[in-house]
Amino acid sequence: MRADLHIHTTASDGRFSPEEIVSLAAEASLNVVAITDHDTVEGLPAAMSSARSFPAMIVIPGIEVSTASAYGEVHVLGYFLEYNNGKLGNVLKQSQVSRRERAEKMVARLRGLGMEIDLQRVLELARGDSVGRPHVAQALLERGYVSSLKEAFVKYIGRSGPAYVKRAKLSPVEAVRLILDARGLPVLAHPAAIANFDEFLTELKSAGLAGMEVFYGFYPPEEIDRLYSISESYGLIATGGSDYHGWEGFALADATRPSLPQRSIKQLFDLAGKSDDLGRLQELVVKRYHS
Ligand SMILES: [Zn+2]
Ligand SMILES: [Zn+2]
Repeated sequence: MRADLHIHTTASDGRFSPEEIVSLAAEASLNVVAITDHDTVEGLPAAMSSARSFPAMIVIPGIEVSTASAYGEVHVLGYFLEYNNGKLGNVLKQSQVSRRERAEKMVARLRGLGMEIDLQRVLELARGDSVGRPHVAQALLERGYVSSLKEAFVKYIGRSGPAYVKRAKLSPVEAVRLILDARGLPVLAHPAAIANFDEFLTELKSAGLAGMEVFYGFYPPEEIDRLYSISESYGLIATGGSDYHGWEGFALADATRPSLPQRSIKQLFDLAGKSDDLGRLQELVVKRYHS
């Protein structure tokens, strides 16, 4: 069984719609995928209903919550979310408002620097609700003020850029609790980027963290080994995914890459109380393979 547990759609800063992502995942012969948009569950209803056309694939409703901590920016993934949960909805709505306000401020600063970009265009580029810095970067690129998205970050909207604006964020522990409240499983995303994350895991683990990303995107094998042994020592499920956004040069975790271990998939479904769903999927996949 092939799994990719970290995928973005147009509901945040991905290039493909939830429906397109589900079809692409099926084409890539993935059996388990999680849709994990930044701070929004808006893409989930469409993804879940498209998934019905592909019985040999399970789509896990997920999220990637941005948080700020003493260790820097930290992302917390949530799997098997009850995405209609009221409290989750309220917190996310607030985060959409602060994202929008931040985009507004960044556009104002860029205009102050002489760049003629407008907020309306940035919001159009965002399409979904979750407007982020990549959309501002795209607007700059469109107008020819930069020659790549990366340049936009380096020159203007990155942490030390003149048009960077900080956004109010949850703490990682608050994100873990929010996900647990919505009956989801919280998992620490791309932890290699976090300074001293080893000590920080103790705090998150006691808040209810269930796993951490080990088999992430393009982490080299030695990084994966290091993270795997940390996940073992903390009793965290070693998960992983491509962090696919649809941009050129990147791909879903398809057959061209080492797959997430079957053990991880099983642990995640067991912990979520979804062992039966996984069992049914397994039977179906085996049957198809032999027919
Ligand atoms: Zn992330
Ligand atoms: Zn991501």
